[in-house]
This record gives sequence, structure tokens and C-alpha cells, in this order.
Amino acid sequence: MNGLLARNRLAVPPSPAGPDGHVAQAAVAVGEPLIRLRGVTKTYGSGSAAFQALRGVDLDIAAGEFVAVMGPSGSGKSTAMNILGCLDTPTSGAYRFRGVAVQSLSRDQRARLRRRWLGFVFQGFNLLARTTALENVEFGLELQGVPAETRRGRARALLDPVGLRGFEARYPRELSGGMKQRVAIARALALDAPILLMDEPFGALDEQTRLLMGEWLLGIWARTRKTVVFVTHSLQEAILLSQRIVVMTARPGRIKASFAVDLPAPRDLDAAPATTLRRALWDAIRDESRRALDGGA
Ligand code: ADP
Ligand code: MG
Repeated sequence: MNGLLARNRLAVPPSPAGPDGHVAQAAVAVGEPLIRLRGVTKTYGSGSAAFQALRGVDLDIAAGEFVAVMGPSGSGKSTAMNILGCLDTPTSGAYRFRGVAVQSLSRDQRARLRRRWLGFVFQGFNLLARTTALENVEFGLELQGVPAETRRGRARALLDPVGLRGFEARYPRELSGGMKQRVAIARALALDAPILLMDEPFGALDEQTRLLMGEWLLGIWARTRKTVVFVTHSLQEAILLSQRIVVMTARPGRIKASFAVDLPAPRDLDAAPATTLRRALWDAIRDESRRALDGGA
């Protein structure tokens, strides 16, 4: 350890990812998709302060899928991502991961599931303030017990393609919003988890960088066939990157529609199939965005 934990005032980490018990075994045999939400509701607070963020979300995601999630602000996208990431639990309904009811798992089992399966890019970046860009990317590897040399090499190799060569020693406060976001993306990829949960991962980037980062991510997905759940407000980005786009309603969020993006690569946004899809997608989202605006989401 090089003191990252102490410097960031973090508790001693749980033991490195081990076999994840019945989560690993149950699975697939049941014939269920990797991820299944059924009737998922999330209510924050209680009594007169109760606030329903999700109502009856049904969603299946197969292993290896690249799914984009769209919907107006406040429609519960981040709430749904937190539930998928086992960082929060539904108020009612079921989340089944590889055929296992996540609610039946203990805290430790959920933590193991996260370490074994999930890489996150949070909307707010969640970088460690007292560690450099390079150390932030290394951090998860350190928790996994990867030797210093190896993890340093892997972290450097990831900061390169996100355009942060030369910024390895900077602290988050010395980086722009877009740079912090790219550190967060590199950090998520460093763990090489089978599932990437990305909550508006390119939201802080300028359009050009965003397009290039999208191409890079798509290359990684094509090579590794990770499962990617990708929240975005960009119609263009969703159509360029994903295999399926799900649209959420205004609050309380439900799945309003699901669009298969059955377009050959490389995708041409100006060609007819993409423009038709874009129009249908916008029709679905526009109504919800209008309702969100009118309802003061
Ligand atoms: P999105 O990511 O689609 O913009 P969120 O999932 O962040 O939406 O939020 C959905 C709704 O739930 C919003 O109205 C938000 O204010 C509310 N919300 C989110 N987190 C909390 C919380 N911890 N406590 C109370 N309300 C919350
Ligand atoms: Mg959000």
C-alpha cells in the first residue's frame, strides 16, 4: 500500500475479490439474462416527504449488450444505475443478477458482487481528492491487491488514450471538469470488470472529444464484449454507440420505449435508417421532457 487509503481517510478495504459464492454458480443455468429488473420502485423519504423516483421499472439486459438509457432529467436514470450497481436497493420489486435475487444477498455479498462484476463511471466523477490522476486510476487495482508495478503500468496505459498523458501527477482540483471525467473513465476501465455502468460518462466533454471517446469506447466494447449500460442525453451518441436504447418516462420513471439499433458499423448518422430512428427516438423523449419541464422535475 502506498498510503492512498490513509490519505483519503478510508477504512481498511475488505479482502480482495474472491470467489463470489452462489452468485457465480446460480446464474446462467437459470436461463435468465445477466440483469433483470421487475416492477422496481424507488421511493426516497417517507410519510408526507415520500418522493417516488421510479415506478414499476422492467428491464432485461443480456451479457455483452451495449444499452443506452435516455430520459429527461429527474426521470430516475441515476437512481436506476445505483440500483443496478448494488449501491442502493429498490423499495419494492426485484433485481435479479445472473438469476440471483440481489435483495437476498448480504451487504458483504453485494460488495463482492460489485468488486467482481462492476465498473462505474459516476455522474459526479467521485475522484479521491488527495490522490493524483494516476493514483485515482490505480486505486481499485490496489484494493484488488495488484502489485504496484503492474497497476502503475495499467493506469498509465489507460490515461494515454483518454488524453491525459502529462497530467498523471495532477490532483483532481488541478484538472478541468472534462479531465476529471476522463480520469473517472480510465479508473472504471482499469478494473477490467465485465459490466460497465456509465452515468453520463461524456457529459462534461466537448463534442469533438466526446465523439472520439465514443469511438474509443466502442473499440473496447467490440474487443471485449463487456456489458455496457450507458446513460446519455445525446440522441446522436446513443445511436452511434448502442445496440438498444431505452427511454424513461418523466418522474416517476418507468421504461417508456425500447429501440433496437440495428445499424451496421461504422454507423452513418446521415443515412436513412439512422435518421428515421432518430426521429422516433426524439418523439418518445420530447413528450417526456415536456412533461418533466411542465411538472418541474
Ligand atoms: P436522473 O438521473 O434521471 O436525472 P435521478 O435518479 O438523479 O434522476 O433522480 C430522480 C429523482 O429522485 C429526482 O427528482 C431527484 O431529485 C430524486 N432523488 C434522487 N436521489 C435522491 C435522494 N437521495 N433523496 C431524495 N430524492 C432523491
Ligand atoms: Mg442522473
